[in-house]
This record gives sequence, C-alpha cells and structure tokens, in this order.
Amino acid sequence: MSMGTSATKALVLFGPPGSGKGTQAKMLTQSLRFPHISTGDMLREHIAAGDAIGIKVRDILKAGNLVSDDLVNEMVTERISRADCESGFILDGYPRTLRQAEMLRGLLESLSIEPIVVHLRVDQNKLVSRLTNRRQCPQCGTLYNVLLKPPIVPGRCDIEGARLVIREDDKEQVIRQRFDAYEKQTRPVLEFFRSGGSFYEIEASEAAPDVIFRAIELFLQGEPGSKS
Ligand code: ADP
Repeated sequence: MSMGTSATKALVLFGPPGSGKGTQAKMLTQSLRFPHISTGDMLREHIAAGDAIGIKVRDILKAGNLVSDDLVNEMVTERISRADCESGFILDGYPRTLRQAEMLRGLLESLSIEPIVVHLRVDQNKLVSRLTNRRQCPQCGTLYNVLLKPPIVPGRCDIEGARLVIREDDKEQVIRQRFDAYEKQTRPVLEFFRSGGSFYEIEASEAAPDVIFRAIELFLQGEPGSKS
C-alpha cells in the first residue's frame, strides 16, 4: 500500500483510565475523518464475539490487567496497514507499555510517519468518580456520566435508545488495578514520548470535552503538514 508519505498523521491519545481519551477520539475521528483505533474496544469486540482472542483476554480485562504486548502489537500492525489509515489514524489506549511504544516507533519509522502525541493530564482523584459514574451505549459506544453528562432519558442512549451499560472493569476494585497497571507499566511511556517528537500536554481535569477538543484541534493546526 502507499502509506509512507510523511503526510500520514498518526495521532496518539495518551492518558490514564478515565482521562477522556475515548471521548476525544470520537470527536477527532469525526472532524479529521481518520479511523479511531481503540485497542480496548477491539478487545471488547473479540470478547463479545466469543472468538479465540476473546476467550484468551476476557479474564485479563475483567481483572484490570494488561493483555500481552505481542497480541496488541499484532492487532495494531494489522489495523493500521488497512487502506482507511492512509491519510491518518487515531490511536486510543495504545501504546501502553515501553515494549509497545518501541514496536510502534519502529513500525512508524519504517513508514516514515512521525507520531503526534497528545497527553490528557487529569487529577487522580477525579478519575475514580469519572469511571464509577460512567455509562456506555453497547451499540454505538457513546459515553455518558450519570452526574456530569446524563442521557436525556435516564438509562437510555440519546442516539440509539439502547439500554446503557456499566463496563465490567468500571467497578471500584478493578479500577484500582487499572490505575496500578497505568502507574507501573504505562506512565514510563510518557517519558519515552516526551523526550522526542511532537508532544502536546493538556490539562484535562476541569475543562469540558469540547473545550479540550478545540485545544487539540488548534494544536494540530500548528503541526507541520496540516492543511490549515
Ligand atoms: P481504559 O483506558 O479506560 O482503562 P481501555 O478501553 O483503553 O480502557 O482498555 C480496557 C482494557 O483493555 C485494559 O484494562 C487492558 O486490559 C486492555 N487493553 C487495552 N489496550 C491495551 C494495550 N495497549 N495493551 C494491553 N492491554 C490493553
């Protein structure tokens, strides 16, 4: 395929669980028209399908641990080789370990793509309440917060009308394990990105999602190779 022009944009959304990566990715995927690649969503799709990968990862997600680097590296490599990623793509929840970051860097280098990393920084004490109050539409993936962004009809998706669900790993015990995995395995990736390339940090504790979204868009417009 013809990827490999430096015009391809690889946007990496980085941040702890509950920092709003998924919400921002959904807004950015609409404005940029790049596919949204969420390794968490991909894994949950495998679990819902009950296929071999799903069976393998089910208990790992349920416990709030990370699945193997080889598995997600393979999934992402295959995904970004598809034609719809030619102009760009948005990575959400990947890379999450140094090994994943190294694999991604090698892969992008071989395609002459410079990643653009956006770090959503959020106070730790905000994160737990965001996750415990989070609800999701099982059909379109839209996220709600019962306190801050409730659906119009309680318990129902505004778009699909489907009954909203609590993600299995949004229970308090599991949330703690996810933070632990973030601190031990994922935070070091931040230093890896900070030390080189295009890196943008945004304080995302207080601002509304669309304010954060506009800040990210402004930053992207200042990036080399952007249209505007
Ligand atoms: P969050 O960032 O809110 O914890 P995600 O949907 O990104 O949620 O991930 C959910 C779960 O999927 C993680 O707790 C982990 O078990 C698994 N997972 C997702 N992405 C990766 C990855 N890049 N490496 C390893 N495990 C992953």
